[in-house]
Amino acid sequence: MNEVLIAEDNPVNRELLRELLETRGYSVVEACNGEEALRVIDESRPDILLLDLDMPVLDGFATVRRIRENPSLASLPVVAVTAYAMQGDREKVLASGFNGYLSKPINAGELARAIECLLGTRDDQDALPDRSDPSQADEARAARNGK
Ligand code: MN
Repeated sequence: MNEVLIAEDNPVNRELLRELLETRGYSVVEACNGEEALRVIDESRPDILLLDLDMPVLDGFATVRRIRENPSLASLPVVAVTAYAMQGDREKVLASGFNGYLSKPINAGELARAIECLLGTRDDQDALPDRSDPSQADEARAARNGK
């Protein structure tokens, strides 16, 4: 069973992610900031890390930097989870050592696709997680909400 580490400071978001992942058959470990995440990685060697960017103590960017400085963690897939829906952030994230990018609110299908692609458990491996135009998704959401 693949193990996913969720590093996220908001307990509601951690619980939501845990439920989505456990439903898909993953085992889940949690950390509430980057420093705790580094400890959990040492202890339990998860297969993939979902890393919130905005966290106290050690944020997502600093955490992924520390991970990439460690040769034994070079192949650990790290997915940024961020509330920033601004154009350009995705490029900044992918240039900072992350392997993928998911924006909140988390879409269950996108989450599964991103993890499967990075773990190599999905057939269409060319399809890396990519929401190429987040503004369109926001517009669609606003339209559904009648705004
Ligand atoms: Mn946060």
